[in-house]
Amino acid sequence: MVYDPKSKKAEEFINHEEILKTLEYAQKNKHNVELIDSIIEKAKARKGLSYREASVLLDCDIKEKNEEIFALAEQIKKDFYGNRIVMFAPLYLSNYCVNGCVYCPYHAKNKVIKRKKLTQKEIEEEVIALQDMGHKRLALEAGEDPVNNPIEYILESIKTIYSIKHKNGAIRRVNVNIAATTVENYKKLKDAGIGTYILFQETYHKESYEKLHPTGPKHNYAYHTEAMDRAMEGGIDDVGLGVLFGLELYRYEFAGLMMHAEHLEATFGVGPHTISVPRIRHANDIDASSFDNGIDDDVFAKIVACIRIAVPYTGMIISTRESQQCRERVLHLGISQISGGSKTSVGGYAVPEPEYDKSEQFDVSDTRTLDEIVKWLMEMGYIPSFCTACYREGRTGDRFMSLCKSGQILNCCHPNALMTLKEYLTDYASPETKELGLKLIEKEIEKVKSQKVKVIAINYLKEIDAGKRDFRF
Ligand code: SF4
Ligand code: SF4
Repeated sequence: MVYDPKSKKAEEFINHEEILKTLEYAQKNKHNVELIDSIIEKAKARKGLSYREASVLLDCDIKEKNEEIFALAEQIKKDFYGNRIVMFAPLYLSNYCVNGCVYCPYHAKNKVIKRKKLTQKEIEEEVIALQDMGHKRLALEAGEDPVNNPIEYILESIKTIYSIKHKNGAIRRVNVNIAATTVENYKKLKDAGIGTYILFQETYHKESYEKLHPTGPKHNYAYHTEAMDRAMEGGIDDVGLGVLFGLELYRYEFAGLMMHAEHLEATFGVGPHTISVPRIRHANDIDASSFDNGIDDDVFAKIVACIRIAVPYTGMIISTRESQQCRERVLHLGISQISGGSKTSVGGYAVPEPEYDKSEQFDVSDTRTLDEIVKWLMEMGYIPSFCTACYREGRTGDRFMSLCKSGQILNCCHPNALMTLKEYLTDYASPETKELGLKLIEKEIEKVKSQKVKVIAINYLKEIDAGKRDFRF
C-alpha cells in the first residue's frame, strides 16, 4: 500500500508505513532546532501544517520551543475564534449495541448494564429538561443496533427534538454521533437537518482496531475509516473526527488524525469541522487502567496545542470526561466547544437515574451544572456561546471553511455569542451568573469591530429584553 491522501481506500489515505516513517522522522528531529523553528514559522502563517511537521512539534521536548508552541496555539485560537466557547450537551437515545468494543460498557456482551432506549415521549421530556437548562445544541448518541436503533428511529428522534418549543427554548442544532453507515442513510440524516456528523475513529492503528473491536459490524476497519467519505458523498459537509486517546500510542493516533484531516481536505476541499479529544475513562465493566497507552495531562495539553496549530480552522471539543482543572488548562490552548451539565446515560436529564438502574457510558469528571460552568467560563474571561448560526444560515462545509480560514468568522462568532448569552441569562441563569454576564456583555459589545454590526447587535440585545429571541449574524 502506498500513501495517497486522495485515495478512497482507508489503508492508502491512513497509511501505516507512512505513519511509521513519520514517527521515525519526528523522533530523529525532535531536537532539530532549525527544523522546529521553521515549522513554528510556517504555523504562524495560520495555514496549517502537514502531519509530518505537526508530528515533529508533538515530539519536540525542548522547553523553550514548547513554550512557543503553547503560546502560538493560544494566539491562533484567539485569532480564529476569539474568546467565545460554544456550549452543547450530549443526549443518549439508546445503549443497545451489537458491537464488541472492549473499551465501552455498551458492548453487546455486557449483561450487567441496564439497556435502555428512549421513546419519543421520553425524548420530549429530556429535551424539555435540556431546554430548561438553557441548551440550544445537542449531540445525539446511540449504539449500533439495526433492530433497536434503526435509522428510522434516529430520524424520528431528530424530528421530535426539532419540533419541541418549550417556553423560550428550542434546540437549534442537532449533531449526530452514530455508527458508520451507508451513503443513503447519510443523505437521510442530511435531509433531517443534522449539523455535524461525528464519528470517532477510536484508533487509526488497524491491527489494534481489529483487536479492540473483535465482533460486530464495527470490526470492519475500512468501512469505519471510510465513513466520513460516505457522509460527504451523502451531502453532509460538516464532519467531526476524534480518537479515543489511551487505546494506542498517542503519537501514532495523532499522525493518523492529521492524515485523516489532510485526506478530507485533499478529497473534498473541506477539512474536519471539529476534532474531539476524548481520553479513555472508567465505566461499568471497563477498567481504564487496563489500557496501557493512557496519557497524562501534560501530553494531553501538548496534543491539544499541536492540533490547534496544525488545523487552525477546526473547532475542538472537550467533554465532561475531563475534570474542571484539565478543561481549564486546554481551553487556553485551542478548545472551542465544551459540554456542560451532561448526562452520559440514556435519559437522566428529566429524572436522575436511580443507583440500581444505571446506563452511563462513562463516568463524568466535571459534574457541575450548566449555570456553574457558564459562570466559571465568564470568570476566566470567556464568552459562553449558545450560537448555532452558521448551520442555520447555510454556512456549512466550504462556505464555513472559507470564512474561517480568512479569519472572518470571528465577526459572526463574537456578536452571536453575546446575543445568545443574553438569551441564556434572561431565561435560565441564576441571579449571580446573570449579573456577571450582563457586565461581560456590556464590556464585550464595545469590542465588536464593525460599527454597523455593533449598532445592530445593541439593538438586538434590547429586543431580547423586550421578549424577542433568536437573533443572529
Ligand atoms: S463504542 Fe459505540 S459501537 Fe462500540 S460498544 Fe460502545 S456504543 Fe457500541
Ligand atoms: S457564528 Fe458559526 S462558528 Fe461562530 S459560534 Fe456561531 S455557529 Fe459557531
